[in-house]
Amino acid sequence: MKKLSFSIIALFMIGTLITGCNASNGNKDAFNTDGKYNVVATTTMLSDLTRAIGGEYVEVKGLMGPGIDPHLYKASAGDVSLMQKSDMIVYNGLHLEGKMAEVFENLTDSGKLVVTISEGIDEAKLLESDDGGIYDPHIWFDVNLWKDAAVELAEGLKKLAPEHSEKFEANLQSYLAELDELNEYIIQRASELPEKNRVLITAHDAFNYFGNAYGFEVKGLQGISTASEAGTSDLRELANYIVENQIKAIFIESSVPHKNIEALQEAVKAKGFEVKIGGELYSDSIGDIGTDTETYIETFKSNIDTIVDALK
Ligand SMILES: [Zn+2]
Repeated sequence: MKKLSFSIIALFMIGTLITGCNASNGNKDAFNTDGKYNVVATTTMLSDLTRAIGGEYVEVKGLMGPGIDPHLYKASAGDVSLMQKSDMIVYNGLHLEGKMAEVFENLTDSGKLVVTISEGIDEAKLLESDDGGIYDPHIWFDVNLWKDAAVELAEGLKKLAPEHSEKFEANLQSYLAELDELNEYIIQRASELPEKNRVLITAHDAFNYFGNAYGFEVKGLQGISTASEAGTSDLRELANYIVENQIKAIFIESSVPHKNIEALQEAVKAKGFEVKIGGELYSDSIGDIGTDTETYIETFKSNIDTIVDALK
């Protein structure tokens, strides 16, 4: 079912846009030819979603492995070749994969089926960004928005393989029910925290949708994208805020180096206050395959448990 419709010219044009390669980025083997549709997804959240809805009819290859930062990710030659050999490509959009925009444009122009997940979300529900894009791309942190993303993905799969539409719809409905359960779990756990303890301080501004949906004030040391560095004035301001508000814990992120949050902890200590590192949150990537955070749902449960347990 592979469509070998890419042209040499498109390959060359995309090839010239490649600016680097990534050492540790997920499974990059060639697709099998076992009768399944071949889908490439960018982030680990999207790989997980595609497997959940596509089920037995799709073979999913993720470009970014666990712990990889999508803001900084550059497509390798192997990535581009894999996408060209695929039947469908799934990406987040809203500038999340900020270094890959032209690659997706070229693939779309070459006639490839490219699904931009964020297009499934009503613009009125999107939060603004002051950093790179117009809107904040971290849509997976509000489970209700991720339900809209699931619907968009199912639409893409039905276009890809209309003969399996009924099965995709059934998978979608059961996954939406699981997401409803997850949403209830998050609301219930968040309710264990008194209002004044609901302050989430992390390495970068990934959690605005989370804060908006579940009633947390959110502060990130770096901006919406990790491409912009945190300045010393950001660090000082946040350290003052932590001391003034007697914040108990701050959090490292699995896809962002820990040094900035550790520097923040030190800056707070220099002011005579102790703030603990409350644990590691999965921000722009879910956990490793084979662990208890290998799916989006498990990862989100782990995040809310880490947050509530540390701030209680
Ligand atoms: Zn991010």
